[in-house]
Amino acid sequence: MQISETKAKSILTRSTGYLRDVCSHSLQPYRGCSFGRALCGVGCYVQHNPWLTRGEEWGSFLEVKKNAAELYGQQHAKESSWARRNRGNFSIFMSSSTDPFLPHEDRFRISQGLLRAMLENAPDSLILQSHSHRAGMYSELYLQLAQTCEFRIHISIESDRDRLPGLPAAASSVASRLRSAQALRRLGLQVVITVAPLLPINDPCDFFGRIAESADAVVLDHFVGGDGSKTGSRTLRTKLPAAIESLDSDCLELSYLDRMREVAERIMPGRVGVGSAGFAGRYS
Ligand code: SF4
Repeated sequence: MQISETKAKSILTRSTGYLRDVCSHSLQPYRGCSFGRALCGVGCYVQHNPWLTRGEEWGSFLEVKKNAAELYGQQHAKESSWARRNRGNFSIFMSSSTDPFLPHEDRFRISQGLLRAMLENAPDSLILQSHSHRAGMYSELYLQLAQTCEFRIHISIESDRDRLPGLPAAASSVASRLRSAQALRRLGLQVVITVAPLLPINDPCDFFGRIAESADAVVLDHFVGGDGSKTGSRTLRTKLPAAIESLDSDCLELSYLDRMREVAERIMPGRVGVGSAGFAGRYS
């Protein structure tokens, strides 16, 4: 893993595409992701973004935005007023092309600095999105942020399996992510499990039952329609579909999303979201 430090030019990115309906801005403490060679990195949509990868192999690099907190302080006033004028509120999604709680966060503390900066200049709402059981690492800060803005933590768990055949293991086990969700929820924080992209689930009733005990809501999405292409063509270029097919070829079809949604709604009525509407906090 090639690690470098940089001074970024900007930290708040006005949202487009899938995130347009979810938040006014996305925010990335790092460029690249050290989970890129774990299970979630296999189908990760970000690897298809040449502007972000700059030709480097996904999971092989991490650029640390040393001045992220300082930039937030500088950009906050202009971007919050733009967002309230044009999008209704100033809402931040952290993060969509990296993970805020990478192991490297222990050394660089970029996400921590950003959260502290947000305590001084709070957005209207903040969604923290992670694939790691480490999502709870700044719970004291979250409790303070929850007093100042609408605050939600999303933890991604795409299946009840820690491995898919022929692919690397998940960066954090399913059990450890569920435990982290439950601990955060017990603190009174809003916690959502995002099952996106949906992978083959071994025991759907048991899986959604465990989620129901650990989180306030669940959000589902399929790579078809959810990977930034209409037909799932980005994901179809990766090794993920072959591994999915070896377990359950039905999971490659969009109808799998409907089936899993039905199970989730039976177990968690009123607490199930789908696609970008779900990421935006709309459940049925
Ligand atoms: S944590 Fe997110 S950004 Fe990083 S590799 Fe996994 S899916 Fe991609």
